[in-house]
Amino acid sequence: MSTAVGEAVWAGERREELRRRLQAIGFDEVRFAAIEGANGQGLREWLDEGMHGEMAWMERTAEKRIDPGLVLNGARSIIMLGVNYWPGPDSRMSAGAEAHPRWARYALHEDYHDTIRPGLVAAGKILEKFCGVLETDYRYYVDTGPVLERGWAARAGLGFRGKNGMLISRRFGNWLFLAGILTRCQIEPDAPLRKKPLPPKEAEPAGLLCGKCTRCSEACPTQAIPQPGIVDARRCISYHTIENKGIIPRELRAGIGDRVYGCDVCLEVCPWNRFAQAAHSVLLVAKGGIAELSLPELLELTPARFAEVFRGTAIKRVKLAGLLRNACVVAGNVAAGQGGTSIYLPQLVKLAAHESAVVRAHAVWAVRRIADDAGLLAEIRGTEKEVVVLAEYEGPV
Ligand code: SF4
Ligand code: SF4
Repeated sequence: MSTAVGEAVWAGERREELRRRLQAIGFDEVRFAAIEGANGQGLREWLDEGMHGEMAWMERTAEKRIDPGLVLNGARSIIMLGVNYWPGPDSRMSAGAEAHPRWARYALHEDYHDTIRPGLVAAGKILEKFCGVLETDYRYYVDTGPVLERGWAARAGLGFRGKNGMLISRRFGNWLFLAGILTRCQIEPDAPLRKKPLPPKEAEPAGLLCGKCTRCSEACPTQAIPQPGIVDARRCISYHTIENKGIIPRELRAGIGDRVYGCDVCLEVCPWNRFAQAAHSVLLVAKGGIAELSLPELLELTPARFAEVFRGTAIKRVKLAGLLRNACVVAGNVAAGQGGTSIYLPQLVKLAAHESAVVRAHAVWAVRRIADDAGLLAEIRGTEKEVVVLAEYEGPV
């Protein structure tokens, strides 16, 4: 371990110079926190309650998330970095125009893991040159590793954890990608937003600057925020349309509305977004064309078209079957909302015979939601063998 890591404390003007150099890479926020005290006590309870759904990787990495020393032995500081992705007030992103399903705003960019990573590589080089650390003295993550980014960002004063569970910045509202660099460097920490210091063993509470506001939990279409700061993934549209690879619980499908990938409701209703500024970071690359895709185009996606349209985006990870599943749910909801019109029925009936049982199940549901007409599906039903699909032919929709 180098002398700089072992002894120096990066404070005052040297710390500010480090901040400026990191900002110059393209990070809109650069804040520092000391690795000490508690962060993530709530995680264990959240996992114990099963609120992570099928995200078993969260359980496997829980100890590391709670104790960064297990990720980087001897870590003393964490550099929290934010990249603003607010598209601006005139953007059509997530507009939800008729026949244009809604997408979470973050997804309408080239995959942020890929575009932010070069910034983290550059940040590492700055640490090596400026602080004299070795490559082994730091580790970086952008939503990919066992780091509780929101908790550390709150600790570093980058913002506060809202009752919607998101990190909310006073400068950028709810629209920040977060990345973190754990380092053995000792960097003087920034102050958190709270005025009174917390006892050393207490974590930053959720809702510090929410006041009496409850807009996010009230607006959530599927009642997925049971307590301030706690999101129950098992009820969350973001989880079900992105992380869940199987059947979406029937009772939640209507709440999905026209959201085909992710959900921004609890972010966009937040009054702190009044400070949001249009994004300009070079670490972000907007991906045009996705928000313009119509619902019929989505229902017609082929493997080749899916690969072409979603290449380089985070959306490609749900794979074609996941996106078709979501599009079926949206079609069922949109058509039902229009009084049971049938413009999507031919496509949905076709998808009821898709090779993926998950797609078939949601297509059957959508057909029945639009037109509870057994005749449309009679022939296909005769060939169906999968229990999960057969179940969709029965019961309420
Ligand atoms: Fe509710 Fe959507 Fe927020 Fe999930 S992302 S908690 S479904 S508003
Ligand atoms: Fe807090 Fe209101 Fe924003 Fe929810 S909507 S995070 S309660 S300020």
